[in-house]
Amino acid sequence: MRYDIVIIGGAIVGSSVAYYLREEGFSGSIALIERDPQFAHAATTLSMASIRQQFSIPENIRLSQFTLKLFRRLKEEFGAEADIGFREGGYLILAGEAGLPILKANHAAQVAEGADILLENADQLTRRFPWLSAEGITAGAYGRSGEGWFDAHAMLMLFRKALREKKIDFISASVTGIERQGDRVTGVSLDNGDRLEAGTVINAAGPNAGKVAALAGLALPVEPRKRNVFVFEAREKYADMPLLVDPSGIYVRPEGSVYLTGGAEPEEGDGPADAGDFEVDWPLFEEVIWPVLATRIPAFEAIKPTRAWAGHYDYNTLDQNAVIGPHPEVTNFLFANGFSGHGLQQAPAVGKALAELIVHGGYRTIDCSAFGYSRVAEGRAFRELNVI
Ligand SMILES: Cc1cc2nc3c(=O)[nH]c(=O)nc-3n(C[C@H](O)[C@H](O)[C@H](O)COP(=O)(O)OP(=O)(O)OC[C@H]3O[C@@H](n4cnc5c(N)ncnc54)[C@H](O)[C@@H]3O)c2cc1C
Repeated sequence: MRYDIVIIGGAIVGSSVAYYLREEGFSGSIALIERDPQFAHAATTLSMASIRQQFSIPENIRLSQFTLKLFRRLKEEFGAEADIGFREGGYLILAGEAGLPILKANHAAQVAEGADILLENADQLTRRFPWLSAEGITAGAYGRSGEGWFDAHAMLMLFRKALREKKIDFISASVTGIERQGDRVTGVSLDNGDRLEAGTVINAAGPNAGKVAALAGLALPVEPRKRNVFVFEAREKYADMPLLVDPSGIYVRPEGSVYLTGGAEPEEGDGPADAGDFEVDWPLFEEVIWPVLATRIPAFEAIKPTRAWAGHYDYNTLDQNAVIGPHPEVTNFLFANGFSGHGLQQAPAVGKALAELIVHGGYRTIDCSAFGYSRVAEGRAFRELNVI
Protein backbone atom coordinates (compact mmCIF):
# COMPACT_ATOMS: atom_id res chain seq x y z
CA MET A 1 0.00 0.00 0.00
CA ARG A 2 1.26 3.48 -0.81
CA TYR A 3 0.22 6.85 0.62
CA ASP A 4 1.40 10.29 -0.44
CA ILE A 5 1.31 11.39 3.18
CA VAL A 6 1.49 9.24 6.33
CA ILE A 7 0.70 11.05 9.58
CA ILE A 8 1.84 9.28 12.75
CA GLY A 9 -0.52 10.21 15.61
CA GLY A 10 -4.19 11.00 15.12
CA ALA A 11 -4.95 13.29 18.07
CA ILE A 12 -5.32 17.05 17.74
CA VAL A 13 -2.08 17.80 15.89
CA GLY A 14 -2.30 14.90 13.42
CA SER A 15 -6.00 15.52 12.80
CA SER A 16 -5.44 19.23 12.28
CA VAL A 17 -2.66 18.63 9.75
CA ALA A 18 -4.91 16.22 7.82
CA TYR A 19 -7.83 18.67 7.98
CA TYR A 20 -5.87 21.65 6.66
CA LEU A 21 -4.13 19.59 3.98
CA ARG A 22 -7.54 19.00 2.45
CA GLU A 23 -8.64 22.60 3.09
CA GLU A 24 -5.55 23.82 1.23
CA GLY A 25 -6.45 21.60 -1.71
CA PHE A 26 -4.17 18.59 -1.26
CA SER A 27 -5.75 15.80 -3.30
CA GLY A 28 -3.23 12.98 -2.75
CA SER A 29 -3.75 10.02 -0.43
CA ILE A 30 -3.43 10.50 3.34
CA ALA A 31 -3.15 7.86 6.09
CA LEU A 32 -3.73 8.96 9.69
CA ILE A 33 -2.27 6.30 11.98
CA GLU A 34 -3.30 6.11 15.63
CA ARG A 35 -2.42 3.39 18.14
CA ASP A 36 -4.90 4.54 20.84
CA PRO A 37 -8.12 5.31 18.94
CA GLN A 38 -10.03 6.08 22.17
CA PHE A 39 -7.31 8.67 22.98
CA ALA A 40 -7.22 7.41 26.57
CA HIS A 41 -3.59 8.46 27.00
CA ALA A 42 -3.26 11.31 24.50
CA ALA A 43 -2.03 14.66 25.85
CA THR A 44 -4.93 16.19 23.94
CA THR A 45 -7.64 14.60 26.07
CA LEU A 46 -5.69 14.77 29.37
CA SER A 47 -4.90 18.47 29.05
CA MET A 48 -6.18 21.52 30.92
CA ALA A 49 -7.75 22.67 27.66
CA SER A 50 -6.94 26.34 27.98
CA ILE A 51 -5.87 29.02 25.53
CA ARG A 52 -3.94 32.19 26.20
CA GLN A 53 -2.24 35.10 24.50
CA GLN A 54 0.24 35.48 27.33
CA PHE A 55 3.41 34.13 25.77
CA SER A 56 6.84 35.75 25.57
CA ILE A 57 7.46 35.01 21.87
CA PRO A 58 5.41 36.82 19.18
CA GLU A 59 5.19 33.62 17.07
CA ASN A 60 3.52 31.78 19.96
CA ILE A 61 1.05 34.62 20.42
CA ARG A 62 0.23 34.48 16.70
CA LEU A 63 -0.35 30.71 16.76
CA SER A 64 -2.83 31.09 19.63
CA GLN A 65 -4.53 34.02 17.94
CA PHE A 66 -5.17 31.86 14.87
CA THR A 67 -6.93 29.31 17.09
CA LEU A 68 -8.83 32.03 18.93
CA LYS A 69 -10.21 33.29 15.62
CA LEU A 70 -11.21 29.72 14.74
CA PHE A 71 -12.99 29.30 18.09
CA ARG A 72 -14.91 32.52 17.49
CA ARG A 73 -16.21 31.32 14.13
CA LEU A 74 -16.46 27.64 14.95
CA LYS A 75 -19.95 27.16 13.53
CA GLU A 76 -18.94 28.77 10.24
CA GLU A 77 -16.03 26.34 9.93
CA PHE A 78 -17.58 23.13 11.29
CA GLY A 79 -21.35 23.65 11.02
CA ALA A 80 -24.22 24.87 13.19
CA GLU A 81 -23.89 22.04 15.73
CA ALA A 82 -20.22 22.77 16.46
CA ASP A 83 -19.64 23.61 20.12
CA ILE A 84 -16.55 23.20 22.28
CA GLY A 85 -17.89 25.11 25.30
CA PHE A 86 -15.32 27.89 24.90
CA ARG A 87 -15.44 30.16 27.94
CA GLU A 88 -13.46 33.37 27.64
CA GLY A 89 -12.57 33.58 31.34
CA GLY A 90 -9.07 35.03 30.89
CA TYR A 91 -5.70 34.23 32.46
CA LEU A 92 -4.25 36.11 35.41
CA ILE A 93 -0.48 35.68 35.63
CA LEU A 94 0.90 37.02 38.91
CA ALA A 95 4.44 38.19 39.64
CA GLY A 96 6.35 39.29 42.71
CA GLU A 97 9.14 41.86 42.59
CA ALA A 98 11.58 39.35 41.05
CA GLY A 99 9.24 38.34 38.23
CA LEU A 100 8.12 41.87 37.38
CA PRO A 101 10.65 42.66 34.59
CA ILE A 102 9.71 39.48 32.70
CA LEU A 103 5.98 40.07 33.22
CA LYS A 104 6.38 43.61 31.84
CA ALA A 105 8.46 42.50 28.85
CA ASN A 106 5.99 39.72 28.03
CA HIS A 107 3.09 42.14 28.37
CA ALA A 108 4.72 44.56 25.93
CA ALA A 109 5.20 41.73 23.39
CA GLN A 110 1.56 40.66 23.79
CA VAL A 111 0.14 44.15 23.40
CA ALA A 112 2.32 44.70 20.33
CA GLU A 113 0.56 41.66 18.82
CA GLY A 114 -2.84 43.17 19.57
CA ALA A 115 -3.64 41.00 22.61
CA ASP A 116 -6.13 42.40 25.12
CA ILE A 117 -3.99 42.02 28.26
CA LEU A 118 -4.01 44.45 31.18
CA LEU A 119 -1.02 44.93 33.44
CA GLU A 120 -2.28 45.87 36.92
CA ASN A 121 -0.65 46.47 40.29
CA ALA A 122 -1.58 44.59 43.44
CA ASP A 123 -4.19 47.17 44.55
CA GLN A 124 -5.94 47.17 41.21
CA LEU A 125 -5.98 43.38 41.20
CA THR A 126 -7.53 43.00 44.65
CA ARG A 127 -10.15 45.59 43.73
CA ARG A 128 -10.96 43.64 40.56
CA PHE A 129 -10.85 40.25 42.33
CA PRO A 130 -11.74 40.75 46.04
CA TRP A 131 -11.18 37.03 46.76
CA LEU A 132 -7.47 37.35 45.88
CA SER A 133 -4.70 37.81 48.44
CA ALA A 134 -1.89 40.02 47.10
CA GLU A 135 0.64 38.72 49.61
CA GLY A 136 4.03 38.77 47.83
CA ILE A 137 2.44 40.08 44.61
CA THR A 138 3.65 43.20 42.83
CA ALA A 139 1.60 42.99 39.64
CA GLY A 140 -0.39 40.71 37.40
CA ALA A 141 -1.29 40.44 33.73
CA TYR A 142 -4.96 39.79 33.09
CA GLY A 143 -6.40 38.69 29.75
CA ARG A 144 -9.59 40.70 29.52
CA SER A 145 -10.60 38.81 26.38
CA GLY A 146 -9.17 36.22 24.01
CA GLU A 147 -8.15 33.73 26.70
CA GLY A 148 -10.02 30.95 28.44
CA TRP A 149 -10.83 27.26 28.34
CA PHE A 150 -12.86 24.75 26.40
CA ASP A 151 -13.63 21.05 25.98
CA ALA A 152 -10.54 19.39 24.45
CA HIS A 153 -12.32 16.15 23.63
CA ALA A 154 -15.08 18.04 21.82
CA MET A 155 -12.46 19.97 19.84
CA LEU A 156 -10.70 16.76 18.82
CA MET A 157 -14.01 15.17 17.80
CA LEU A 158 -14.88 18.20 15.64
CA PHE A 159 -11.71 17.72 13.62
CA ARG A 160 -12.05 13.92 13.48
CA LYS A 161 -15.67 14.16 12.35
CA ALA A 162 -14.82 16.72 9.68
CA LEU A 163 -12.11 14.35 8.39
CA ARG A 164 -14.68 11.63 7.67
CA GLU A 165 -15.82 13.58 4.63
CA LYS A 166 -12.31 14.34 3.46
CA LYS A 167 -11.13 10.96 2.13
CA ILE A 168 -8.61 10.19 4.86
CA ASP A 169 -7.69 6.58 5.70
CA PHE A 170 -7.86 6.09 9.47
CA ILE A 171 -5.57 3.26 10.52
CA SER A 172 -5.66 1.87 14.06
CA ALA A 173 -2.14 0.57 14.64
CA SER A 174 1.18 1.46 16.15
CA VAL A 175 4.05 2.57 13.92
CA THR A 176 6.97 0.36 14.95
CA GLY A 177 9.45 1.13 12.18
CA ILE A 178 10.30 3.83 9.66
CA GLU A 179 12.26 2.95 6.54
CA ARG A 180 14.88 5.25 5.14
CA GLN A 181 16.97 5.20 2.00
CA GLY A 182 19.68 7.82 2.37
CA ASP A 183 18.03 11.20 2.79
CA ARG A 184 14.47 9.97 2.15
CA VAL A 185 11.99 8.19 4.36
CA THR A 186 10.25 5.63 2.19
CA GLY A 187 7.72 3.86 4.38
CA VAL A 188 6.50 2.80 7.78
CA SER A 189 5.86 -0.60 9.32
CA LEU A 190 3.01 -1.28 11.71
CA ASP A 191 2.58 -3.60 14.68
CA ASN A 192 -0.10 -5.55 12.75
CA GLY A 193 2.55 -6.61 10.23
CA ASP A 194 1.50 -4.17 7.49
CA ARG A 195 3.96 -1.99 5.65
CA LEU A 196 2.99 1.30 4.03
CA GLU A 197 5.06 3.13 1.46
CA ALA A 198 5.08 6.86 2.11
CA GLY A 199 5.85 9.92 0.01
CA THR A 200 6.04 12.11 3.13
CA VAL A 201 5.92 11.19 6.83
CA ILE A 202 4.64 13.62 9.46
CA ASN A 203 5.49 13.11 13.11
CA ALA A 204 2.43 14.06 15.20
CA ALA A 205 3.14 11.57 17.98
CA GLY A 206 2.90 13.98 20.93
CA PRO A 207 4.97 12.92 23.95
CA ASN A 208 6.17 9.88 21.97
CA ALA A 209 7.59 12.07 19.18
CA GLY A 210 11.23 11.63 20.22
CA LYS A 211 10.87 7.87 19.93
CA VAL A 212 9.10 8.12 16.57
CA ALA A 213 11.86 10.38 15.20
CA ALA A 214 14.42 7.86 16.44
CA LEU A 215 12.68 5.17 14.33
CA ALA A 216 13.82 7.22 11.32
CA GLY A 217 17.30 7.61 12.78
CA LEU A 218 16.65 11.28 13.66
CA ALA A 219 17.32 13.01 16.98
CA LEU A 220 14.48 15.04 18.49
CA PRO A 221 14.74 16.35 22.08
CA VAL A 222 11.09 15.62 22.94
CA GLU A 223 10.15 13.38 25.84
CA PRO A 224 7.09 12.65 27.99
CA ARG A 225 7.00 14.60 31.26
CA LYS A 226 4.30 13.74 33.76
CA ARG A 227 1.90 16.52 34.78
CA ASN A 228 -0.92 16.14 37.33
CA VAL A 229 -4.30 17.85 37.32
CA PHE A 230 -6.40 17.86 40.51
CA VAL A 231 -10.12 18.55 40.75
CA PHE A 232 -11.55 20.08 43.92
CA GLU A 233 -14.79 21.48 45.29
CA ALA A 234 -15.08 24.68 47.29
CA ARG A 235 -18.02 26.33 49.01
CA GLU A 236 -17.32 29.64 47.30
CA LYS A 237 -18.07 29.97 43.59
CA TYR A 238 -16.19 32.76 41.86
CA ALA A 239 -17.89 33.25 38.53
CA ASP A 240 -15.36 35.90 37.48
CA MET A 241 -12.31 33.79 38.31
CA PRO A 242 -9.73 33.61 35.48
CA LEU A 243 -7.11 30.90 35.14
CA LEU A 244 -4.80 32.17 37.84
CA VAL A 245 -1.08 31.42 37.73
CA ASP A 246 0.72 32.01 41.03
CA PRO A 247 4.41 33.06 40.95
CA SER A 248 5.17 29.55 42.25
CA GLY A 249 3.88 28.15 38.95
CA ILE A 250 0.77 26.65 40.55
CA TYR A 251 -2.37 27.39 38.57
CA VAL A 252 -6.08 27.12 39.29
CA ARG A 253 -9.21 27.71 37.24
CA PRO A 254 -12.92 27.06 37.53
CA GLU A 255 -14.52 24.23 35.56
CA GLY A 256 -18.29 24.43 35.91
CA SER A 257 -19.06 24.02 39.61
CA VAL A 258 -15.59 22.68 40.53
CA TYR A 259 -11.99 23.87 40.16
CA LEU A 260 -8.92 22.42 38.43
CA THR A 261 -5.40 22.93 39.73
CA GLY A 262 -1.85 21.74 39.09
CA GLY A 263 1.57 22.95 38.07
CA ALA A 264 3.63 22.09 41.12
CA GLU A 265 6.05 19.60 39.59
CA PRO A 266 9.45 20.37 41.13
CA GLU A 267 12.18 21.19 38.61
CA GLU A 268 14.57 18.95 40.45
CA GLY A 269 13.83 15.38 39.48
CA ASP A 270 11.57 16.43 36.59
CA GLY A 271 12.71 14.03 33.89
CA PRO A 272 11.31 11.74 31.26
CA ALA A 273 8.24 9.83 32.43
CA ASP A 274 7.78 6.16 31.86
CA ALA A 275 5.44 6.03 28.83
CA GLY A 276 2.96 3.92 30.81
CA ASP A 277 3.04 5.93 34.06
CA PHE A 278 -0.23 7.81 34.53
CA GLU A 279 -0.40 7.42 38.30
CA VAL A 280 -1.37 10.61 40.14
CA ASP A 281 1.17 12.12 42.55
CA TRP A 282 -1.31 12.93 45.32
CA PRO A 283 1.33 14.24 47.77
CA LEU A 284 1.85 17.16 45.36
CA PHE A 285 -1.67 18.31 46.09
CA GLU A 286 -1.51 17.84 49.86
CA GLU A 287 1.98 19.18 50.45
CA VAL A 288 2.59 21.77 47.75
CA ILE A 289 -0.53 22.93 45.94
CA TRP A 290 -3.08 23.26 48.71
CA PRO A 291 -0.94 25.52 50.96
CA VAL A 292 -0.27 27.85 48.01
CA LEU A 293 -3.96 27.96 47.05
CA ALA A 294 -4.97 28.74 50.63
CA THR A 295 -2.49 31.62 50.77
CA ARG A 296 -3.46 33.07 47.40
CA ILE A 297 -7.23 32.63 47.80
CA PRO A 298 -7.96 32.50 51.54
CA ALA A 299 -11.42 30.95 50.97
CA PHE A 300 -9.60 27.89 49.56
CA GLU A 301 -8.39 27.02 53.05
CA ALA A 302 -11.40 24.70 53.11
CA ILE A 303 -11.60 22.69 49.91
CA LYS A 304 -12.30 19.07 49.05
CA PRO A 305 -10.25 17.26 46.39
CA THR A 306 -12.52 14.90 44.48
CA ARG A 307 -10.45 13.34 41.72
CA ALA A 308 -7.29 13.81 39.66
CA TRP A 309 -5.50 12.60 36.57
CA ALA A 310 -1.99 12.63 35.15
CA GLY A 311 -0.98 13.19 31.55
CA HIS A 312 2.29 13.67 29.70
CA TYR A 313 3.62 16.92 28.33
CA ASP A 314 5.30 16.65 24.90
CA TYR A 315 8.33 18.32 26.46
CA ASN A 316 11.07 19.83 24.30
CA THR A 317 14.15 19.73 26.53
CA LEU A 318 16.02 22.26 24.34
CA ASP A 319 13.71 25.26 24.73
CA GLN A 320 10.12 24.22 25.62
CA ASN A 321 8.89 25.30 22.22
CA ALA A 322 7.45 23.53 19.21
CA VAL A 323 9.57 22.01 16.45
CA ILE A 324 7.71 22.59 13.18
CA GLY A 325 8.61 21.72 9.60
CA PRO A 326 10.91 19.38 7.70
CA HIS A 327 14.18 17.84 8.76
CA PRO A 328 16.85 19.84 6.86
CA GLU A 329 18.39 16.74 5.26
CA VAL A 330 15.62 14.15 5.38
CA THR A 331 13.24 16.67 3.87
CA ASN A 332 10.23 14.37 3.47
CA PHE A 333 10.09 13.81 7.25
CA LEU A 334 8.19 16.66 8.95
CA PHE A 335 7.89 17.54 12.63
CA ALA A 336 4.92 18.97 14.54
CA ASN A 337 6.19 18.25 18.02
CA GLY A 338 7.51 19.46 21.36
CA PHE A 339 4.76 21.90 22.30
CA SER A 340 5.63 21.56 26.00
CA GLY A 341 2.20 22.25 27.44
CA HIS A 342 0.70 24.60 24.85
CA GLY A 343 0.10 22.32 21.88
CA LEU A 344 -3.65 22.01 22.06
CA GLN A 345 -4.18 25.72 21.45
CA GLN A 346 -1.48 25.76 18.76
CA ALA A 347 -2.65 22.67 16.89
CA PRO A 348 -5.05 24.33 14.41
CA ALA A 349 -2.46 26.95 13.45
CA VAL A 350 0.31 24.38 13.13
CA GLY A 351 -1.91 22.14 11.00
CA LYS A 352 -2.58 25.09 8.72
CA ALA A 353 1.12 26.02 8.58
CA LEU A 354 2.32 22.53 7.65
CA ALA A 355 -0.44 22.19 5.06
CA GLU A 356 0.65 25.48 3.47
CA LEU A 357 4.24 24.32 3.45
CA ILE A 358 3.35 21.04 1.74
CA VAL A 359 0.78 22.39 -0.72
CA HIS A 360 2.23 25.82 -1.55
CA GLY A 361 5.90 25.28 -0.72
CA GLY A 362 5.99 27.97 1.99
CA TYR A 363 4.24 29.43 5.04
CA ARG A 364 1.51 31.90 4.15
CA THR A 365 -0.61 32.63 7.23
CA ILE A 366 1.98 32.44 10.03
CA ASP A 367 5.71 32.25 9.41
CA CYS A 368 6.82 29.23 11.45
CA SER A 369 10.41 29.15 10.23
CA ALA A 370 11.74 30.18 13.66
CA PHE A 371 10.35 26.87 14.97
CA GLY A 372 12.34 24.92 12.36
CA TYR A 373 14.51 21.91 13.11
CA SER A 374 17.79 23.66 12.25
CA ARG A 375 17.90 25.17 15.76
CA VAL A 376 17.76 21.63 17.18
CA ALA A 377 20.63 20.57 14.96
CA GLU A 378 22.63 23.61 16.07
CA GLY A 379 21.60 23.35 19.74
CA ARG A 380 20.29 26.93 19.51
CA ALA A 381 17.38 27.57 21.88
CA PHE A 382 14.29 29.54 20.79
CA ARG A 383 12.99 29.79 24.30
CA GLU A 384 9.43 30.46 25.46
CA LEU A 385 9.58 32.03 28.93
CA ASN A 386 5.93 31.58 29.81
CA VAL A 387 5.71 27.80 30.16
CA ILE A 388 2.88 26.82 32.49
C1 LIG B 1 -1.82 17.90 32.07
C2 LIG B 1 -1.69 18.63 30.77
C3 LIG B 1 -2.23 19.90 30.64
C4 LIG B 1 -2.13 20.59 29.42
N1 LIG B 1 -2.76 21.79 29.30
C5 LIG B 1 -2.76 22.42 28.10
C6 LIG B 1 -3.50 23.62 27.94
O1 LIG B 1 -4.16 24.10 28.85
N2 LIG B 1 -3.45 24.22 26.72
C7 LIG B 1 -2.73 23.71 25.68
O2 LIG B 1 -2.71 24.31 24.61
N3 LIG B 1 -2.04 22.55 25.80
C8 LIG B 1 -2.04 21.90 27.00
N4 LIG B 1 -1.36 20.73 27.14
C9 LIG B 1 -0.50 20.25 26.03
C10 LIG B 1 -1.32 19.65 24.94
O3 LIG B 1 -2.23 18.74 25.49
C11 LIG B 1 -0.40 18.96 23.93
O4 LIG B 1 0.65 19.82 23.55
C12 LIG B 1 -1.18 18.59 22.66
O5 LIG B 1 -2.34 17.90 23.00
C13 LIG B 1 -0.30 17.76 21.74
O6 LIG B 1 -1.12 17.18 20.78
P1 LIG B 1 -0.60 15.96 19.92
O7 LIG B 1 -1.68 15.55 18.99
O8 LIG B 1 0.73 16.32 19.36
O9 LIG B 1 -0.26 14.86 21.02
P2 LIG B 1 -1.23 13.72 21.68
O10 LIG B 1 -2.55 14.29 22.03
O11 LIG B 1 -0.46 13.05 22.75
O12 LIG B 1 -1.40 12.77 20.47
C14 LIG B 1 -0.36 12.00 19.93
C15 LIG B 1 -0.98 10.73 19.44
O13 LIG B 1 0.01 9.97 18.76
C16 LIG B 1 -0.25 8.62 19.00
N5 LIG B 1 1.01 7.89 18.79
C17 LIG B 1 2.19 8.07 19.41
N6 LIG B 1 3.12 7.22 18.94
C18 LIG B 1 2.51 6.50 17.97
C19 LIG B 1 2.95 5.44 17.12
N7 LIG B 1 4.20 4.97 17.18
N8 LIG B 1 2.06 4.89 16.27
C20 LIG B 1 0.77 5.36 16.20
N9 LIG B 1 0.30 6.35 16.99
C21 LIG B 1 1.17 6.92 17.86
C22 LIG B 1 -0.68 8.58 20.46
O14 LIG B 1 -1.43 7.41 20.74
C23 LIG B 1 -1.50 9.86 20.58
O15 LIG B 1 -2.88 9.66 20.45
C24 LIG B 1 -1.45 19.99 28.33
C25 LIG B 1 -0.91 18.71 28.45
C26 LIG B 1 -1.04 18.02 29.65
C27 LIG B 1 -0.49 16.64 29.75
